[in-house]
Amino acid sequence: MDIVAVDIGATWVRMALVRDGVIEGLKRERNPGTEEGLARVLSSLARELAVGRGEVGSVGVASIGPLDLQKGYIVGSPNIKSHIIRLSTLLKRLFPRSRVAIANDAVAAAWGEYLLGVRAGTPDLGYITMSTGVGGGFVVGGRLLLGSRGNAHEVGHMVVDMWWEGGRCGCGGVGHWEAIAGGRWIPRTSQVLARGWRGAETRLYRAALEGRVGSAKEVFDAAAGGDDFALHVVDYVARASAAGIASAKAAYDVDVVIIGGSVYLNNRRLLKPLIEKHLEAYSPFSSKIDVVDASFGENEGIMGAYAIAYRKPEDLPLF
Ligand SMILES: [Zn+2]
Repeated sequence: MDIVAVDIGATWVRMALVRDGVIEGLKRERNPGTEEGLARVLSSLARELAVGRGEVGSVGVASIGPLDLQKGYIVGSPNIKSHIIRLSTLLKRLFPRSRVAIANDAVAAAWGEYLLGVRAGTPDLGYITMSTGVGGGFVVGGRLLLGSRGNAHEVGHMVVDMWWEGGRCGCGGVGHWEAIAGGRWIPRTSQVLARGWRGAETRLYRAALEGRVGSAKEVFDAAAGGDDFALHVVDYVARASAAGIASAKAAYDVDVVIIGGSVYLNNRRLLKPLIEKHLEAYSPFSSKIDVVDASFGENEGIMGAYAIAYRKPEDLPLF
């Protein structure tokens, strides 16, 4: 059966036609950030993929949050201009005869991993995305955890650093995992760490001290080139992430944690060994966590969207 999978990110909207778990066609356009604009983009993507009225069995949507899951709306996302985007309404207008399933992107990705990923069938698994922000989804005892409004596990807002003096998270909290290790905050993290750095005065150190670090990529590139201070920043990001993963493990008792998201996947060689090293301290042998790379790379959202439409998780409303 053909399923249309939609991945709504802050920057890109991607739509794919998926047949038996295989992506047959995929198109993307920039997310205009308004409800009207998104309606236009969705219908243009459907036209490009030549999918539409009555031709597909079901539609799965993996979206940035926060979501009102019962209504299928994005509500009050800091990354989008419109306060409310009525996703369910837009999709039903486009596919009136299809069933539409909508979930938070990281939550959908966890379900995609559970059904189709490298560790498919593991009854207790977590999916963590390290991207612009940090998020996650969890399957416990074979059930996808949703929470009443669809934002059950905002793991990026767990406190991983009680002494953090680097400024607040986007949500207003202090010491949050996302505020230290989220891609948009890594330049700030480098500035904060520069103030206490006693090592060599490297290029990235001077840039950080003067507030000239413009992106997470700059930090990771410098670290890959052997810049001692950049390696220190990357180690701190990995350490915060290990603390978050260990806490998630303690809360959900998962056996496997799968990590995806562009910040992680683009810098896996640097991050993975460091995360594993710090996990040895935070989550010792008795509760060892298996850390696994995401199965679908940049298509994690699309495969998650496919998965929730292919086999609807219990408790997820359909439109
Ligand atoms: Zn937060």
